[in-house]
Amino acid sequence: MKELVILGSTGSIGIQGLEVARKLGIKVTGLTAGKNAKLLEKQAREFKPLYVALSDENMARDLKIRLKDTDIKVLSGEDGICDIAQSTGDTVLSAIVGIAGLKPTISAINAGKTIALANKETMVTGGVIVNRLAKENGVKILPVDSEHSAIFQSLQGTPKGSLKKILLTASGGPFLGKTKDELENVTAKQALKHPNWSMGAKITVDSATLMNKGLEVIEAVHLFGVSESDIEVLIHPQSILHSGIELSDGAVIAQLGTPDMRLPIQYALTYPNRANFFERLSLADIGTLTFCKPDTETFRCLPLCIEAIRKGGLYPTAVNGANEESVRLFLEGKIGFLDIAKLNEMAMLSIKNKADFTVEDIFETDAAARRSVIENSKNVV
Ligand code: NAD
Ligand code: MG
Repeated sequence: MKELVILGSTGSIGIQGLEVARKLGIKVTGLTAGKNAKLLEKQAREFKPLYVALSDENMARDLKIRLKDTDIKVLSGEDGICDIAQSTGDTVLSAIVGIAGLKPTISAINAGKTIALANKETMVTGGVIVNRLAKENGVKILPVDSEHSAIFQSLQGTPKGSLKKILLTASGGPFLGKTKDELENVTAKQALKHPNWSMGAKITVDSATLMNKGLEVIEAVHLFGVSESDIEVLIHPQSILHSGIELSDGAVIAQLGTPDMRLPIQYALTYPNRANFFERLSLADIGTLTFCKPDTETFRCLPLCIEAIRKGGLYPTAVNGANEESVRLFLEGKIGFLDIAKLNEMAMLSIKNKADFTVEDIFETDAAARRSVIENSKNVV
């Protein structure tokens, strides 16, 4: 029987992860969140984990008082979250948003836990280190990101060495087909209206800029050991074909399904077995699936991420950290939509690269990229 920890349990993936755990009857032993004490308390009362943690120290103190009538231990801060990631459960659903997910995921890997990985920023920033630690600790990393789950599912049973290419699909987001001029004044509210998926705010904006696809190219390089030049990004507005692979004989294998994140979460939690809880796909009802090339002239974040992984080292960390900051500024109405890519590029080009780097180097580069965005954002408005 699996024992599950969910890092980021109050977020979009975390909530769906708990829904899957409820259906599968998985025991939940740890839950963590950033600041949402109210929802974490509700989840704790239902799932009765051994531990919960909030990164916000004051809120954690408050939650401790509120949960006094239970046996649940309340921890706080990043250390508390890392403690939970390593000390309980055998499987960790890594679903914190942003680079904040990196250290807790590394803690879980060092403790030998199986990782169901939603937090793509862990792979984008720490992919090389994370893969090395996973190997040393005999840890499986099972992708939850829908595209990577689709690639992973497509790879099941294919012989080693037969993978020729990855086909990474993208919905194109709410601004598919728009020109630069039309994007000049789009608002956060418009960017947050994703046509197919309901997700957290940061990844929804990343889908609108195609930054999300750029991050996913980097994630795929680390998860599947391919070069970025072996990944073809395809716009597929229906979000039914979740990604696929091309093999040496030209055969293309892909995974199709309804756009429902509970499915890849469920696969990561039941792998290699299959469960049977959610809505099934009717291709006849969908009728048409379409594909085209992405517009990389308008949506600059995608080629920027590809350049970052081609250059390697700390460039992916820089572009990721810059993006976390520019998305925050965009959501606060302080910069325009097209400024996100501009600021990300300036930040990326400003960092000092290193081919061999440590976790400390990652956080230093992340901070430098964020400073660059904040500094340069004053000039774009
Ligand atoms: P979200 O914003 O809805 O939730 C994020 C969770 O992380 C919340 O529980 C929040 O409390 C917690 N958190 C935020 N900042 C934190 C911090 N500094 N320290 C500790 N905890 C913190 O995000 P989401 O949409 O659920 O995405 C989570 C991750 O999964 C992201 O990396 C995202 O790219 C990835 N992902 C999400 C989806 C999706 O459908 N939402 C799909 C694929 C991949
Ligand atoms: Mg995805």
